[in-house]
Amino acid sequence: MSLPIVAILGRPNVGKSTIVNRLAETKGAIVFDEPGVTRDRTYQPAYWRDREFLVVDTGGLIFDDDTEFLPLIRQQAMAALAEASVAIFVVDGQEGPTTADEEIATWLRQQSVPVLLTVNKCESPEQGMAQAAQFWSLGLGEPYPVSGIHGNGTGDLLDEALKHLPPQEELPETSEIKVAIVGRPNVGKSSLLNAFVGENRAIVSPISGTTRDSIDTVVEREGQTYRLIDTAGIRKKKHIEYGPEFFSINRAFKAIRRADVVLMVLDALDGVTEQDQKLAGRIADEGRACIIVVNKWDAVEKDAYTIYDYGEQVKSRLQFTEWAPLIFVSAETGQRVEKILELVNTAAEQHKRRVTTSVINEVLEEAGNWHSPPTTRQGRQGRIYYGTQVSTQPPTIALFVNEAKLFNDNYRRYIERQFRESLGFTGTPIRMIWRSKK
Ligand code: GDP
Ligand code: GDP
Repeated sequence: MSLPIVAILGRPNVGKSTIVNRLAETKGAIVFDEPGVTRDRTYQPAYWRDREFLVVDTGGLIFDDDTEFLPLIRQQAMAALAEASVAIFVVDGQEGPTTADEEIATWLRQQSVPVLLTVNKCESPEQGMAQAAQFWSLGLGEPYPVSGIHGNGTGDLLDEALKHLPPQEELPETSEIKVAIVGRPNVGKSSLLNAFVGENRAIVSPISGTTRDSIDTVVEREGQTYRLIDTAGIRKKKHIEYGPEFFSINRAFKAIRRADVVLMVLDALDGVTEQDQKLAGRIADEGRACIIVVNKWDAVEKDAYTIYDYGEQVKSRLQFTEWAPLIFVSAETGQRVEKILELVNTAAEQHKRRVTTSVINEVLEEAGNWHSPPTTRQGRQGRIYYGTQVSTQPPTIALFVNEAKLFNDNYRRYIERQFRESLGFTGTPIRMIWRSKK
């Protein structure tokens, strides 16, 4: 579910960076002046029509055997190609085909990635066709004349590139949401399940899960289908002889792994135990959306402050899932049970939410204006160049920075908080990847 990648390659000075800058969103794009052949690949977000993708510049390809860095350069180009959906091979239309171009072409023909042969520096349309035609000899199909400087031809090139990107995943609105109900024995998981099933008469049918011993229950409510995962374990439990101390954490872990949203059920009378903390840690590690359901609320003596105080206490003891909303329910009386599914809907939506690069960069800019990144004693300061969401479920944001280690945990948490404050992400963890660009 990550963004597709378009790789740009070619020998030095053909205009690769000029083309990358034209394709990529220029705002916040990283410009490298160092001529170093060892430089890292640079990823830049780009859009064309309705598609978002990353453009990766492989650095200048040199196939001269005298080059000290030859294996390294090739390795980098290979790495870039391995993850790319399509490669743009840039050549210089004013110079015509060179030996180096032929060498790269020979090598590219052995790779499996589709290649778009791009003849740069074709400023005039008439000459451009003739300039481009010289490159049929490379055996890479039709050459596309473009001018990186003026932009001619780049639209056609991008149209062609889009054809090679993997189809955009489109999740139908009514797709089912997989929900795991986990928690210690006796917190009320089966009572909750019965409450869901009871209030939502439209049970489709119990459906066998992927493993032999697990059974899912499918429930429908207001056009949305919910698959309640591995509920056999919950229902059968009563007939099996094991004490309340027995806690099948493996079963819970398996259910968490299969879920989109986890309902983590607590017993209001017991509060948060160590086992609950372990489950919360796993939910966060697996990147699942989560709602904390405090059950048996009917059995708690309360005044006007109880909910607030109780909530604060739970949050402070479940730090791994501090982003998860809390709901106080009673499976026995049915109080607020229906509301749980509303929270599930929101969390599932946020879990697969995609935020555009421009919005992410607005948040980053705003965050940086309030608090600049820390400066070390040596006077070195972290710098965030830009960010882009690279995948969903959970939302994962890559931040391209000068040096990741200049950002301490405090600042990282601050940035995450800014994303949550500006963009919500209720009920889903978000992941941040700090990538050094050096
Ligand atoms: P790279 O080494 O392949 O990344 O090449 P650069 O993008 O740094 O460009 C190399 C040189 O070619 C620079 O002097 C650019 O100004 C020039 N250049 C790039 N694109 C064009 C173009 O479309 N037309 C012309 N005439 N020159 C270009
Ligand atoms: P499970 O082991 O997590 O599936 O828990 P059960 O659903 O079997 O419930 C364990 C016990 O808690 C049973 O005796 C239930 O009647 C009781 N219980 C479940 N939900 C509630 C609730 O909302 N309020 C109260 N007071 N008791 C509940």
